Amino acid sequence: MKRRCPICKKLADSETDADFPFCSERCRLLDLGNWASERYVISEPAFDESMFEDLERDAPPSDADGHE
Ligand SMILES: [Zn+2]
Repeated sequence: MKRRCPICKKLADSETDADFPFCSERCRLLDLGNWASERYVISEPAFDESMFEDLERDAPPSDADGHE
């Protein structure tokens, strides 16, 4: 069974590549790294939200924005 490596798109063979569907251990580790960094990005907004809350508290009320 042959499949394209999801990282570098090189053709990998399930018969010969131990890291199938990746063409090499390097690509397999790269994919793990991508997955880990995605998790990191997803968990980050919880921290950012509290920063935005502080900004909103400091911002003037919305009615002060309209000049009459
Ligand atoms: Zn590859």
